[in-house]
Amino acid sequence: MNESNHHDVIVIGGGPAGSTVARYAAANGADVLVIDGRDPIGTPLQCGELVPSNDEMRRLCPNVPDMDELFRTPEDAISRRSTEMHIVPPSGKPLKFDFEGLVLNRVAHDEALVELAEENGAKYLVDSHVERVTGNQVIVRGGDTYTAKVIVGAGGHNDPLRRDHWDESSLKIPVKFVLMDGDFGEAVELHFGSMAPGGYAWMFPKSSGANIGLGIQRSFSKGISLNQYAKEFISKYDGDISFRGAGSLPMSGTIRTFVKGNYMLVGDAAGMVLPSNGAGITIAMIGGRIAGQTIAQHLSEGTALEEYEHRWDRQMGKVMRNSKRAFRVGSLLFRLPNWMLNLTFNRLTKGIIWRAVTCRRMFWIL
Ligand SMILES: Cc1cc2nc3c(=O)[nH]c(=O)nc-3n(C[C@H](O)[C@H](O)[C@H](O)COP(=O)(O)OP(=O)(O)OC[C@H]3O[C@@H](n4cnc5c(N)ncnc54)[C@H](O)[C@@H]3O)c2cc1C
Repeated sequence: MNESNHHDVIVIGGGPAGSTVARYAAANGADVLVIDGRDPIGTPLQCGELVPSNDEMRRLCPNVPDMDELFRTPEDAISRRSTEMHIVPPSGKPLKFDFEGLVLNRVAHDEALVELAEENGAKYLVDSHVERVTGNQVIVRGGDTYTAKVIVGAGGHNDPLRRDHWDESSLKIPVKFVLMDGDFGEAVELHFGSMAPGGYAWMFPKSSGANIGLGIQRSFSKGISLNQYAKEFISKYDGDISFRGAGSLPMSGTIRTFVKGNYMLVGDAAGMVLPSNGAGITIAMIGGRIAGQTIAQHLSEGTALEEYEHRWDRQMGKVMRNSKRAFRVGSLLFRLPNWMLNLTFNRLTKGIIWRAVTCRRMFWIL
């Protein structure tokens, strides 16, 4: 075997999860190769592009340390800063909340994460699709084989390591979105109800235009296609469409184990999306930092890789549990007819709804 094909760590996928694993593992002395099927990484766009500001992240995930060190979003990756979120029921009458959000240029955001990992010493192999992993071998399309002591699956919701070596399934919601030209105000909007059964719809204004889309649970959709729901929701907004995209989001939260022997999962591959609000980018990076640091300690000091799961649980366990619970309650609620749902979105329930969206306990028992 060619020496350059052997590494301490191979990371499958160079998205927010994989590039963050690579950044922290390499910064702490590991020899890391990231293999990604795309070139350039991050294209084509598959995202609504909203992340909470660092201050908002501190409120959302209070047990996660050093947010400013983790999230160093460069100015050119920020399209607009928003200070308000509207939660909109089918009536169209929003509940308004203070919310500091960054609407990203997601492609530039992911490029910056690749640069950060490279500055710390990680190497990238792009345009190389990983077909399968067996033992300590990662086999890419065309037959080239790479080996590593630790192999990380950060390939998103279709990650090959997860697919072949884990048998737990995740609920995935299919998503469609567009970039639309025009002026859409300041507030980011999340819409809940029959316009996006079992999921939600969004309108996130950018410096120019907006990112507009929705995701549904197919079991809620009464035979109507995602295309139809998307067409109907998007047609409420006025403007020329400059881009159309689609994807899929794991919405049942984290899976039971992230580590099997010398294999690890992180990001969407491990279900690291907060189901009550769809946040995946920042959560993948939180998981990525913990995984990268743990791998480096494993290689230098023999720390067990399972320590990654314990550290994740200490930092994110409570937030994820609350978010899963809110999603389950929401899924029941959103089966209600529109008129009842409209009644449940009111001044009295406003605080509870915000607690659910921001992953806090809604009531003392729930
Ligand atoms: C339409 C849509 C809208 C979204 N909107 C938001 C939002 O507004 N805010 C938010 O926080 N989150 C949003 N998300 C979720 C967010 O995009 C993900 O949670 C986040 O990207 C997860 O990062 P990741 O690194 O785990 O996976 P990804 O970003 O999916 O990266 C995976 C990488 O692995 C590579 N890869 C996959 N398979 C292979 C293979 N076999 N071989 C080699 N490389 C491979 C891919 O090319 C990709 O670069 C959205 C998701 C979708 C689909």
